Amino acid sequence: MPHDPVPGLLAHATELLEAEFGALPAAPANVDLSAIERVLAETARRLGDNYPYFHPLYAGQMLKPPHPVARAAYALAMLINPNNHARDGGRASSEMEVEAVAQIARMFGWTEFLGHLTSSGTLANLEGLWVAGQLAPGKRIAGSEQAHYTHRRISAVLQLEYAEVVTDNRGRMDLNALEAELRRGDVGTVVATLGTTAIGAVDPLPEILDLRRRYAFRVHVDAAYGGYFRLIPESLDAPARDAFGAISQADSIVVDPHKHGLQPYGCGCILFRDPAVGRFYKHNSPYTYFTSEQLHLGEISLECSRAGASAVALWATQRLLPLTPGGEFARGLARGRQAALELDRRLRGDARFRPLAAGPPELDIVTWKVAGPTPEHSSEQAHSVFAACAARNLHLALVQLPQSWFDPAGRDVNRTGNVTCLRSVLMKPEHSEWLDRIWIEFAGACAEVGER
Ligand SMILES: *Cc1c(COP(=O)(O)O)cnc(C)c1O
Repeated sequence: MPHDPVPGLLAHATELLEAEFGALPAAPANVDLSAIERVLAETARRLGDNYPYFHPLYAGQMLKPPHPVARAAYALAMLINPNNHARDGGRASSEMEVEAVAQIARMFGWTEFLGHLTSSGTLANLEGLWVAGQLAPGKRIAGSEQAHYTHRRISAVLQLEYAEVVTDNRGRMDLNALEAELRRGDVGTVVATLGTTAIGAVDPLPEILDLRRRYAFRVHVDAAYGGYFRLIPESLDAPARDAFGAISQADSIVVDPHKHGLQPYGCGCILFRDPAVGRFYKHNSPYTYFTSEQLHLGEISLECSRAGASAVALWATQRLLPLTPGGEFARGLARGRQAALELDRRLRGDARFRPLAAGPPELDIVTWKVAGPTPEHSSEQAHSVFAACAARNLHLALVQLPQSWFDPAGRDVNRTGNVTCLRSVLMKPEHSEWLDRIWIEFAGACAEVGER
């Protein structure tokens, strides 16, 4: 594990924060430090039972280490442990949340909006679809078959019918299939996913917005994974670039700072283009706090208590790395994207593998199947390569995808059903420098599997 700079960074800031409360009479904490130390040693050993998510050779699932400034700011906020439900519970951290969320909204081209942080993308999507259901009671929600699995569950919770729309051979919502649903006249909301969880596919948002003009429905953009790619249009290919460019015309947007935004878990975000939807949250709670004049975040959120520390960490991160095109944060995203394109290029040059037949990845997630006479054989080989890589400390992921995505039409007789594929999410900036090493370990693992 690399040397961790956070404890050192934290020491000085802790002194400064303690000084802020220096006027209070001393109230020494009564703790047994040596007992805590023993438990922490045991905790550290327990935590060793993990994949090394922080390391560039971890290139499997969507796991990106929080930035040191985010971890330090989060830990600093723990001295206070603010609650962003209400300003009484988290005065400074509520202000910081308002500022940080405004920066995210600005990234999407919105200056007037309603929005706040949530404890996850799922909760943020729940709020988006809840408001959609309030505006169009009883109408259906439509999302692609590659949309996040929680949309169906959320719709069930909201007692709204959910329609699954098929995708094309690169995981994007099929517009003809969507229009067939719309013609029935009872779709209230379309969920457009900009960056699907499995392969980072980007739904055709401009065309979905064209359909909205004809069929009148709400567009909820689930950009939990992909939202920040809005900052690097020059690194994307045309359809994805246009989709991220059109995002400001959505009715609501979800983005997860705890996915690509360098934050610890517990940080999602929901944004609404029309601030007037705040009326749906109106509640009359006798026990919440009424001392501040401004709107409480708890008054525009389905959740009650929420970690103020999440807002503090996000604010500090965006202070260090503003969400500006061409800035350091944007360049970090572009480096991961570069690594993904390079891995995809190498896989295409190797007859043992079949990347997506339709072309390179749209974001920074690479998926490929192992070539083989049957889908069963390809799936078995994928499992073997996955395990052989892990034994060499290279951590990839496995994913079930339609067989037809990997074989150009007519080339393979087994084009129906799913096949287990290898998947690599190259979301760390360092993945670009580590790609050669990743390739060496991958090639070594494949050679081992081939010799068996
Ligand atoms: C991760 C993800 C979600 C769920 O977000 P959580 O923060 O894990 O609850 C929803 N949609 C998409 C596209 C995602 O990638």
